[in-house]
Amino acid sequence: MDFKLNNIFFAILILCISFLFPVDCAASPILSPSLEVKKIRYWPAPDHIRIVLDMSGESVYRVRELTNPYRIVIDIPGGKFSAGLKGTEIDDRTIDRIRVNRLRSGAQVVFDLPRKTLFDHFALKPFKNHPHRIVFDLIKSFSPEEITKKKKKANRIATSGDKIVIVDPGHGGSDPGACSMSGIKEKDVVLEISRMLAESINETKGFKAILTREGDYNVDLGKRIEIARSHGGDCFVSIHLNAFHHNRARGSEIYFLSIDGATDKNAQRVAEKENFFLELGSRYNTLEDDVQLILLDLTKSDVMNRSSFLAEFVAERMNRLNSISFRGVKQANFVVLRSIAMPSILVEAGFLSNSRDVRLLRKKNILKEIASSIAGGVISFLESNSFAKVNNGKTGYIEHVVTKGETLWGIARKYGLPVNNLRSLNNMDKDLSIYPGQKLRIRSKE
Ligand SMILES: [Zn+2]
Repeated sequence: MDFKLNNIFFAILILCISFLFPVDCAASPILSPSLEVKKIRYWPAPDHIRIVLDMSGESVYRVRELTNPYRIVIDIPGGKFSAGLKGTEIDDRTIDRIRVNRLRSGAQVVFDLPRKTLFDHFALKPFKNHPHRIVFDLIKSFSPEEITKKKKKANRIATSGDKIVIVDPGHGGSDPGACSMSGIKEKDVVLEISRMLAESINETKGFKAILTREGDYNVDLGKRIEIARSHGGDCFVSIHLNAFHHNRARGSEIYFLSIDGATDKNAQRVAEKENFFLELGSRYNTLEDDVQLILLDLTKSDVMNRSSFLAEFVAERMNRLNSISFRGVKQANFVVLRSIAMPSILVEAGFLSNSRDVRLLRKKNILKEIASSIAGGVISFLESNSFAKVNNGKTGYIEHVVTKGETLWGIARKYGLPVNNLRSLNNMDKDLSIYPGQKLRIRSKE
């Protein structure tokens, strides 16, 4: 198993590294006289710095590396800078400053770097209120001593005997997630809830929380998985906020992974939104299909079953909240959950499209309440020994008649069986819905 996991890790690593080497982009220029660099923004992260050029249109650009001193030069033929746009000094070990040169041939952006640096660049099309963008990720280099120190620290935590909870604040950096009408960003609120959640967990003896993101920066999927794995996570909790095109929907929801499909249309929509956001920010954050398949093989039934327990423990606490109403536990195919080999849930803590939820989410005490509820549920889950035991003994079958309000995962939990097992036994294919009076075949020990 370990050998297999190592192989997967290296496959992911090689996949990521293969995208880190710079490729010059020398597309044939279709010059647009109005092409303008409107803004230059940047977000330093522990392992990279992301620089985004907001453009007025489809971007044709050329990238060159120059030495003595080391520079990355971006030429935008025929382009210009918006009035007043200036370069900036940056207090980061990877880059000293960004310069803007207004040339007769077009716009030129120069990154002055203290040393040769691996980097990646790509263009993004407009999305919601984001314009065309050119994105640069400059990768920070670490000395062998720094790498060893980091590994040792993670290993110390993994082997400490504490229960490790990986807290994953969604989005970050150039990816704000959902936004309210008043401009509140999902990435900021979920970071605040996640910090409170981590604090709550760390206050409990025998438990330790690790955040996948500690500030406002991008973290790609591979990195989120690596943090979870290297610290020996016992469970993974991803924190998000919802948004919908109408403003009536409100309340929190908890999701765990479904490989084949979502429990309903809304669950499907939420998964598509979160998957899209996660895949939006970078081109090397999506794992190659066969790597994912191996991960799925290792994880699916047992981890999915345990994830449903985790979801129910947290749901029980969230249901008690008087502030944010609770909409229930659902299943959908989230890329962040399907890649993690540990019990994992995704909490959508409220709707940024609903003014009542937004009013609540502005209040620190409400965020603290949400965080404490999640912490309470996670700790109860890890303290309980009710992890599903998959029945591998001799089997027979009994019949279960579905009553009103029962869910498939609730029934699965009652009998200690994976949801998938129930589905396949009852020929339920991809349709997860059950109805009162329905007779389900249940496998049990003879
Ligand atoms: Zn989100």
